Amino acid sequence: MKQAEWRPGKRIAIVGGGPGGVSAALALLKQGYDVRIFEAQPKPQAIGGAVLLSTPVLMILRSYGISLENFGAYAVTEFRNHKGKLRVRVPFNKKVEQVSGIKGWHYGVLRSSAFAPMMEKLPDGVILGDHRFTHFEEQSDSIKLHFANGNEVEADLLIGADGIRSAVARQLFGSNELFHIGIQVWLCWCENVEGLPRDIGRLSHSHKYQASFFPMLHEGKPGYEWWVVEPRKEGDPVPDDPKAYLSNLLKDWVGPFDKFIAATDFENNVFRWDVYNRPSLEKWTSGRVVCLGDAVHPVSPYAAYGMGMAIEDGYYLAKFLNGRNLQNQTTLDDTYAKYEELRVAYVNHNVEFARTMGKAFHNMPFPLNRIRDFVFDHTPLLAKVISKDYLESSEKQTLSLEELFVDGATLLDSVAVS
Ligand SMILES: Cc1cc2nc3c(=O)[nH]c(=O)nc-3n(C[C@H](O)[C@H](O)[C@H](O)COP(=O)(O)OP(=O)(O)OC[C@H]3O[C@@H](n4cnc5c(N)ncnc54)[C@H](O)[C@@H]3O)c2cc1C
Repeated sequence: MKQAEWRPGKRIAIVGGGPGGVSAALALLKQGYDVRIFEAQPKPQAIGGAVLLSTPVLMILRSYGISLENFGAYAVTEFRNHKGKLRVRVPFNKKVEQVSGIKGWHYGVLRSSAFAPMMEKLPDGVILGDHRFTHFEEQSDSIKLHFANGNEVEADLLIGADGIRSAVARQLFGSNELFHIGIQVWLCWCENVEGLPRDIGRLSHSHKYQASFFPMLHEGKPGYEWWVVEPRKEGDPVPDDPKAYLSNLLKDWVGPFDKFIAATDFENNVFRWDVYNRPSLEKWTSGRVVCLGDAVHPVSPYAAYGMGMAIEDGYYLAKFLNGRNLQNQTTLDDTYAKYEELRVAYVNHNVEFARTMGKAFHNMPFPLNRIRDFVFDHTPLLAKVISKDYLESSEKQTLSLEELFVDGATLLDSVAVS
């Protein structure tokens, strides 16, 4: 690393080149900081299959210069029971659509298709692979990072974006053990299936399983992501033939799951994900260190989109640093206060809401699960819960991103893709 390009007061070392670390780097580079990402792997990779990203994340990616043309597929999200009865159709917020210039709310996209353009926007030399962070030392007006390969780096600010098993968060906050939340997810994707509507995404539940699908784009081409959530204790045996297992599990479900199963490459496009959380943290910062993404809030897959929230964290952190000189601890403390005020309670709420939904849908004993289904099938309770506990705060935060607003009247239709 050339020292001339590493100016005291501007030096930001990011540990971890996942979506959160790369988002932070893109936003911080725009603010004139000297940024390096130290990644344990030789090259960062987008793990997993397809994701749903929501409007604020797309606004942020657009602000990094990423084109939203053919980026993802939007659709109306519906909740149904496994026999097909409609429970909720998630509404679009016209005001959000108008100010963001983005139609709908959820966009289905393959993770690698979302991550690749982020990586392309990083200038050469920003990411240093094969740098596994081991520990840091706080100095009087800087921080020193140590790596397993023997390298050391001095910076003004260390950003811990090193994922669910974060070494940075462990040193900062002590051990904060992961716990298995009692569910596993099968994430699958396939090429386009002809004859299905491209504007509907469905989340459907039986008494203890969820099976869902959403149209998506991968490298601009149409496909579908589909996933199954089921109760599972840590250490339970894993089925050795996922195709046969999922076919059997979904045999009585209304919906095109048989078509998805037939169209899916089970060797390469199916990911089984055991879901872990940590007890929520009230602080993500201390001294010259700030954390983001899974390092401080690993999530489960109910409305709490890990990739999206990590991208948002990186953007907001840069927004509050605002190009200021970082040598002064007061500047850092001021940033931390704004960042934590906006993000910690919001994200913890989403993570806890996701966990509660996971428990309510997959770990409720008989006969409570039958009563729950009756209530969800015959009353507006589920619609109220989604609106109040998920949409309301997400939309409010989106409407605070005023610097990313566009003239909706002219852009609404040209930006949206399906
Ligand atoms: C199989 C699987 C499927 C998933 N599918 C979805 C999904 O469909 N939708 C969704 O929203 N979320 C999904 N998630 C969750 C999602 O991966 C995370 O929420 C999201 O990637 C968090 O981003 P991040 O940048 O905080 O961390 P990560 O993406 O985990 O990135 C952390 C980076 O830090 C690096 N690193 C780790 N330790 C060190 C170290 N000591 N030194 C240097 N570098 C280090 C890692 O190699 C990695 O590149 C999935 C997770 C898994 C495991």
